This record gives sequence, C-alpha cells and structure tokens, in this order.
Amino acid sequence: MKKPSPYFDVIVVSASAAGIGIALMLQKIPGLSFTVLKSGSIRESFRRWPKQTRFITPSFHSNPYGLVDLNAIEEQSSPALFCQSEHPCGEHYAEYLKAVVSNEYLPVVQHCRVDKVLKENRDNFVLETQQGVFRSQYLIWATGEFQFPDLAPFPGAEHAIHYANISDWSDFNAEAYTVIGGYESAIDASINLLASGHHVHVLMKESDWNKQSSDPSKTLSPYSLDRFNEAIQSERLTITFDANIQSIKKTADAYIISSEDGRQWSSNTAPILATGFLSGGGAKQIAHLWEWDEDDRILLTEADESTCTPGLFLVGPQVRHDEQLYCFIYKFRQRFTQLTELLALCLSLDSSALNANNPWAGQCDEEQCGDCAC
Ligand SMILES: Cc1cc2nc3c(=O)[nH]c(=O)nc-3n(C[C@H](O)[C@H](O)[C@H](O)COP(=O)(O)OP(=O)(O)OC[C@H]3O[C@@H](n4cnc5c(N)ncnc54)[C@H](O)[C@@H]3O)c2cc1C
Repeated sequence: MKKPSPYFDVIVVSASAAGIGIALMLQKIPGLSFTVLKSGSIRESFRRWPKQTRFITPSFHSNPYGLVDLNAIEEQSSPALFCQSEHPCGEHYAEYLKAVVSNEYLPVVQHCRVDKVLKENRDNFVLETQQGVFRSQYLIWATGEFQFPDLAPFPGAEHAIHYANISDWSDFNAEAYTVIGGYESAIDASINLLASGHHVHVLMKESDWNKQSSDPSKTLSPYSLDRFNEAIQSERLTITFDANIQSIKKTADAYIISSEDGRQWSSNTAPILATGFLSGGGAKQIAHLWEWDEDDRILLTEADESTCTPGLFLVGPQVRHDEQLYCFIYKFRQRFTQLTELLALCLSLDSSALNANNPWAGQCDEEQCGDCAC
C-alpha cells in the first residue's frame, strides 16, 4: 500500500538564516506541527560566499544587555561569540547556523530540494521534492537570493564572471581586472583584488560611489567604507562613473565593454559582474504563486502573505513594503514574531510564549530614522 505523504500545519522552505529563524519561532507554539525542507546541507548557502567575504553588519555579544547581536537568528546566541569575530566569514556563519539547528533540535530535512509547489485545494499545499511529496496547510518560502544570481543583465554578460560564482579571490592571477557594479559586492570584489596586488577598474552606473541615505540598505556600510578608503591609497584603482553597461563583446584577445552613452572599455580578463541577483531571488522558482509589480518585485500583504495565493508567506531579504527593505538579517528577523502570531491565530493555537519576550527589539522609530522610509 502506498504510504501517505507527510502532512504539517506549516512547511518552511528552506533552512538558512531566514528559514531557521522563522522555524525557531514556530517551535515556540505548542501543538504546531512543522518541518523545514532544505536543498543541500544547512551550511550550503553561506559556504558559497567567496572565501574572503565577511559580514558587513557587525556582530557583538550585547545580548545580556537586551540588544541581540545584529546577525543572530536565535535570541540567546551571538555569532560574535560563536565565530569569535566581529565580521564573520561565510564559512564560520554556516557553522553557527548548524549549531543553532542542532542545539534547538529543529526538524530540518536536508538534501530535500522542493521542485514543484501546487495548491491542491483551498487549504493544501503539495510540495514535490527530492524526497517525495510533502503537504501542508501553510507554506513559508525562505529561499534567499545568493544561489540565484542575475547572470544575464545585458547581452554578452555570459562572458563575465558573476560575483556569486567566485569561491576564492586568490584564484585570480592576472595583472588587471574590470569590475562592473557599484554597491557592496563590487566594493568587496575591488578591495579583495587590490589587496592581492591587482589593478582594478570599476565601472559604476552611479555618479558617486558614496551616496548618502539614512537607510543602511541604500548606502555603503561603514565596514566597506573603511576598507575601501584604505584600498584607494594603493593607487591601483580607477573608478569610472555614470557607466550604464549595455553589452560585453568577446574578441580574439579582449573583452569590449560598452555603455549606454557609447563609451567603450577593453579588458584583457573576463569582467567581474557585481550587478546583483534575480529580482525575487529564490522566490522566482514559484513565480506563479506570487503577484509581481511592474518593477518585477513581489507584492505582499502587510502580513507578508502572497497577494494571490492565500497561506503562502515570504521571509528573508526579498521582503519589501514600498520603500522598506528587509534585506539584512537584523531587519528581516523583525517580521518573524508577527507572522508566527498570525499562524498561531489561524490554527487556534496559543501564542503567549511569543508575547512574553520579543527578542528582536522594536521596529524603526520615526524620530530616530529622520527621512528613512523604514
Ligand atoms: C556577499 C554578501 C554579503 C552579505 N552580507 C550581509 C551582512 O553583512 N549582514 C546581513 O544581515 N546580510 C548580509 N547579506 C545578505 C544575507 O546573505 C542574507 O540576508 C541571508 O543570507 C538571507 O538568508 P536566507 O535564509 O533568506 O537565504 P540564503 O542564505 O541565501 O539561503 C537560501 C537557502 O534556500 C535553499 N533553497 C533554495 N531553493 C530551494 C528549494 N527549491 N528547495 C529547498 N531549499 C532551497 C538554498 O539551498 C539556500 O540554502 C549578504 C549577502 C551577500 C550575497
């Protein structure tokens, strides 16, 4: 006889920072059944970061004084303490996530990529996975963005190397490189290449590399600024502004990079693309279950639910409400409590364990934020 597929109140896809964070909240609700499905291993996503890349948001063990470490996804823990670093690298942070899952006995099914999601009837999600079919009443999608780089932002981009496909900057051994992009990953690429003695030419769409904004998601982090200001001293860095790149052509001996205004640059090495990730990141895998706006962004209700598929929720860096971006851990973890409360309410379960202590501090405060939209 065919075994019935497992059924849960809630399924979380997948188990990196966002998926583990929300699963820890769900675990506080007595009687709520849930599981977490993860393609590959828990550590996979952060282990894919280039070896030299570090967290730009600082970690500090301020937990005992009521300020949970900015990069923590579990309120008692601190990546600063665990990794013994203010700016952990991907490998160390991956170990931190693994330790949290194991300490908290979270039910994570690893190597269980979700290939297809169907809504069977009004109340049931059916997930086809590497390990068979799973069913649930509610579905939380947490598949991030790092594994979903935009590899084709313009014609010829296939000749470039995307930042997300670089594992170690010490593998680069030519004299000079061209980096296309103007934000955190472009600056990180440039700093690492300059540190190894290369010449670097950065082609930036922006007219300034240091634009000011009171939203920390729209301005370079102090960590990047400090490192970049130091790297500039090398005099091996050239920055070209207002370069809106439209194509790359590969000739017999060079890569010809062209911008919208007709300027061209030649590079002897494959350009480095630091132009970002697919809009919606991993949520593109179930694109039909979301409504997308004209800028290709996911539309969500105030409760982070899909506007066209009731019962489907988004957590992680793609959550966005108008100008409010939740692209950092310390931002998107603030949404966990309200989502868990809502699910408990829908399932008629007791959520008082959540109200007792909201670890993630308050939302933004208008007076402190100035012109910030958050
Ligand atoms: C270079 C870089 C530096 C960053 N620095 C910071 C920082 O300093 N501070 C900060 O707060 N944030 C930082 N971020 C953003 C940070 O990476 C994200 O906030 C965080 O990783 C998001 O966590 P996540 O769980 O949403 O996604 P991810 O960590 O990307 O994990 C997504 C997971 O989903 C899994 N998955 C995908 N599809 C499926 C599927 N179909 N079935 C099952 N599993 C699936 C993947 O295997 C992956 O493990 C940085 C990002 C980058 C790229």
